Amino acid sequence: MTRYGMLIDTTNCIGCYACRTACQRQNGLDAEVDYIRYEERETGTLPNVRHESVPLQCMHCEDAPCVSVCPTGASAIGEGGVVTVDESKCIGCRYCMAACPYQVRVHNKVSGAVEKCKFCHHWVYEHPETPSNTCVTACVTGCRIFGDLDDPDCELSRAIVEKNALPIAGDLTTAKIFYVR
Ligand code: SF4
Ligand code: SF4
Repeated sequence: MTRYGMLIDTTNCIGCYACRTACQRQNGLDAEVDYIRYEERETGTLPNVRHESVPLQCMHCEDAPCVSVCPTGASAIGEGGVVTVDESKCIGCRYCMAACPYQVRVHNKVSGAVEKCKFCHHWVYEHPETPSNTCVTACVTGCRIFGDLDDPDCELSRAIVEKNALPIAGDLTTAKIFYVR
């Protein structure tokens, strides 16, 4: 089985928005629609304060609450555990937006559908030997790694162990994006 996931190392993220810009271009999104949002945080206490940019996007939760509440089946868990949205089935009710605890779904005024990060699944499914995605390629500091969580020898799985990467919100959901902070 393949279970796609990602690591984001925020200690290397400089908050340049290159991943978001590349994602918007890749997905033909307007400037105000984005699949990646950022939280700017300050950690520590004076004088040892650190600024942290935390890119957030769909975590492709294994127990996705957005899928459970979708009344039409538009939101579903697809191949490789990628959470998908079938825009032809989406009626724009936004139940999924309310259910997502990470606030990473967006309503597209043009299509009327709710959208989110797709893990670039069209490319990934067609190129299983070299799975990658636009945000990973665009990141100027290399803080993103994509791979198969069920392959203990892949770069992603090794990095999660070596860097002690964890989901951003503990066990709030079973997220498949792991963060180094
Ligand atoms: Fe659904 Fe939000 Fe989880 Fe993505 S992060 S699978 S949109 S609940
Ligand atoms: Fe955008 Fe692809 Fe990154 Fe998802 S994985 S945020 S679609 S670039």
